[in-house]
Amino acid sequence: LLRPQAGAEDARAEADRALRPQALDEFVGQAEARANLRVFIQSARQRGEAMDHTLFHGPPGLGKTTLAQIMARELGVNFRMTSGPVLAKAGDLAAILTNLEARDVLFIDEIHRLNPAVEEVLYPALEDFELDLVIGEGPAARTVRIELQPFTLVGATTRLGLLTTPLRDRFGIPTRLQFYTVDELHLIVTRGARLLGIPCEDEGAREIAKRARGTPRIAGRLLRRVVDFALVEGDGRLTREIADSSLTRLGVDHLGLDGADRRYLSLIAENYAGGPVGIETIAAALSETRDALEEVIEPFLLQQGLIQRTPRGRMLTQGAWRHLGLAAPEPPRQ
Ligand code: ADP
Repeated sequence: LLRPQAGAEDARAEADRALRPQALDEFVGQAEARANLRVFIQSARQRGEAMDHTLFHGPPGLGKTTLAQIMARELGVNFRMTSGPVLAKAGDLAAILTNLEARDVLFIDEIHRLNPAVEEVLYPALEDFELDLVIGEGPAARTVRIELQPFTLVGATTRLGLLTTPLRDRFGIPTRLQFYTVDELHLIVTRGARLLGIPCEDEGAREIAKRARGTPRIAGRLLRRVVDFALVEGDGRLTREIADSSLTRLGVDHLGLDGADRRYLSLIAENYAGGPVGIETIAAALSETRDALEEVIEPFLLQQGLIQRTPRGRMLTQGAWRHLGLAAPEPPRQ
């Protein structure tokens, strides 16, 4: 009662958990990654060994955390979770590593943001399940070696390019996650509606799937908003009409682009005649960080063929001009 905010957070976390697939068989999409993981999990179980270290990379919301949790469940081991920026000191990592039980899964989100001192400690832990800790300072400092239980590190990153080569090389199973197809998202939305107990027309689910930016997290969020509109302004059923009108009211267009995506495209169209324009310039003009543009906005626009990355900067494609309803400028005469 005193912390209504926390209540709302809990409810959201609860809803998220309810929609999260719990087993590899329930996980829709990423067929190739899933088929490979199934083999590696079964092999590790048969050998009774820790599964090899695994790296998931790809845009946010595609299921990296979910897959890591599923791996732990299917391996029958504990799941421990932390993230790169949280591990400020070598000791923080050491405390987690020394508490792992044999074959546990340790998930490190945003692993590209590990402090270099922490990363140094991680190398011998990954290779030999050993920890070299420096105790004390100055001339009295000495190194102690601690044996660890064999474990599986699952790293997740939205920016593979920012990982140092030595860290990248220590993952035996690097896995790239792809944007989902509309059919896959359709299954995810239908399953979500069922779990939320909302009667859902096929075309209603499909409308959400088409406008979810290829991303299950966004599909889940849009589903919950459409359900709100269906309950309050409709008859409680998720129809195509209610999905279409709710998503339009939320500023999600028929390709799934939101306000931030359209601002990005309009800026290049209107202020830079379609580009090329440098990423730093775009970031400054939109008051966004370069990282946010590169991690969140650009991957989907690239995948949809709306922008191109050239050595001289970002450029709009014909498709982007069409989507904006604007005429592309005539190419300059030679
Ligand atoms: P990431 O770690 O890549 O940012 P998450 O694993 O946290 O993404 O997934 C984001 C949300 O999308 C979660 O609520 C999860 O339940 C849902 N989700 C992800 N992948 C799938 C999938 N294949 N099927 C159903 N839901 C999924």
